[in-house]
Amino acid sequence: MKEKEFEHFQEIVEETMKKEGLSRRDALKLMGLGSAAAMMGGTSVKAEAATEAKASSAKGKILIVGGGLAGMSTAARLVRNLDNPDITVVEPNPRSVSYQPGLTLIGGYEWGVDDIIYNTSDFVPNGVKWIQDRVVEFDPENNKVKTEKGKTIEYDFMVVAGGLELAFDKIKGLEEIGTLYTLGENQKAAEILAKGNAASLYFVDGAVQMRKNLNAFIEAAKSGKKVKGIFTHPNTPIKCGGAPKKILFLTDSNLRHAGARENAELVFYPNGGSMFGVPEYHKAILNLFEEKDLKYHYKHNLIEIDLEKKIAVFDKHDKTKKVYDPDIEEEIEEVVHERVEVPYDMIHITPPMKAPDYIGKSPVGSSAGFIPVNYETLQHKKYKNIFSLGDIAAVPLGKTGGSARKQYKVVVDNLISVMEGKEPTAKYNGYTVCPLITEIGKVMLAEFKWADPANGKYNGIVYPSFPLDPTKPRWLYWVLKVYMLKPMTQYGMLKGLA
Ligand SMILES: Cc1cc2nc3c(=O)[nH]c(=O)nc-3n(C[C@H](O)[C@H](O)[C@H](O)COP(=O)(O)OP(=O)(O)OC[C@H]3O[C@@H](n4cnc5c(N)ncnc54)[C@H](O)[C@@H]3O)c2cc1C
Repeated sequence: MKEKEFEHFQEIVEETMKKEGLSRRDALKLMGLGSAAAMMGGTSVKAEAATEAKASSAKGKILIVGGGLAGMSTAARLVRNLDNPDITVVEPNPRSVSYQPGLTLIGGYEWGVDDIIYNTSDFVPNGVKWIQDRVVEFDPENNKVKTEKGKTIEYDFMVVAGGLELAFDKIKGLEEIGTLYTLGENQKAAEILAKGNAASLYFVDGAVQMRKNLNAFIEAAKSGKKVKGIFTHPNTPIKCGGAPKKILFLTDSNLRHAGARENAELVFYPNGGSMFGVPEYHKAILNLFEEKDLKYHYKHNLIEIDLEKKIAVFDKHDKTKKVYDPDIEEEIEEVVHERVEVPYDMIHITPPMKAPDYIGKSPVGSSAGFIPVNYETLQHKKYKNIFSLGDIAAVPLGKTGGSARKQYKVVVDNLISVMEGKEPTAKYNGYTVCPLITEIGKVMLAEFKWADPANGKYNGIVYPSFPLDPTKPRWLYWVLKVYMLKPMTQYGMLKGLA
């Protein structure tokens, strides 16, 4: 984005905020956009980091595993906060530093692939060593890792930020796809899905395919054909829990713009029993479903798909029955599993997700495959010289870039404390943000954090940055989502500033 364009969008934001009774300065600062704007020379708002930065003379070899959004931002901020940084990032992908939230806008709006993918090398901070390789063995007792290319790397401190893998192979009928990363050449996977009018925003080629499928779906509806589109949400933790609904809302919106909504039935099949973990957002989304005539069936997990016949098979698990347990000699509730076959014309699949096995199943992983950390300090539960953040960290809620934006500052502060021989004291508060697109031109900025971590309550509560009703979709947030959050990520977070 050019400086002039950025300034133009800032002006739009400022004007919209004035109408909402907000000052741009406060709002941008709250969103952490001040630094992004400052980097672009468009404002006098001070960069957050400038007030926070405290250079430390602490020394030590720091290894960062995974140079995606969380890993590379951590490297950038460590460079700003250490006098003598000695940092190595191991990252296999030459195009790892992406703006993944833009995938939704590729699948359901007007963005292209070039809008979201950058060269990893452009975001490796000065002085940081990038090894283009993959860690395949962890030896945390001896502070060593091994890479795929056979290199042994020793470290004093390690940050694990390996992200999530997409486990398409857990769905019967999609075994051929195997597991994928969001970034990478996955054209073949998109082609396999396309045979059954299926696609997924969760990988780049899949998002491109989604747009093609959506166009064909709209054309069919426009021709007068009655069509059915279905949208799934799996039974594992996923990154950006809002994305399965964003593409549903965008499908609805595109159909309305095309004047063909009445010919399409749109149905959401989530594994869970609600629309959102935070009651206020759940209620607001349910109202939108009603308003937009969107249908839903809770507790349906996609387990199989027949691409040729275009039939999705779900495990429906919304009922229980009483059964006698001879071990405890009592009746217990048992979930009833029912196989439900749903014919469709277009399907958006959100695949099951997991930590990459090299990391999740290693000595630094947990039995559930994520990195076990203290939820607040993000320090490894067993190894005090290891921290983890981003999608791979085993913390309740937040698997979004917005969570990583809060976490990486905590990790940097705490890692430096440990390097200085002190206890880690900085705390992550569970902050997560989901800019939920509800139609072209409107976004509900669902911000939340943990209720009361001091008393072990990690459920989400509403936590808005703006003094506005956060459950109301607004054009202002669309402008932020579509025009401002990307430069904020590129020029703020990935520079270690915001
Ligand atoms: C469709 C979609 C929509 C989204 N929308 C939003 C949104 O609106 N707002 C928001 O805040 N977030 C959103 N997100 C989520 C956000 O993009 C992620 O939470 C964020 O990218 C997580 O960063 P990360 O560094 O943990 O993982 P990643 O950015 O995925 O990086 C992980 C890196 O680790 C590397 N790696 C893996 N294994 C190894 C290994 N063994 N050795 C070395 N390196 C390894 C990978 O190559 C990868 O580059 C969305 C995501 C998707 C897919």
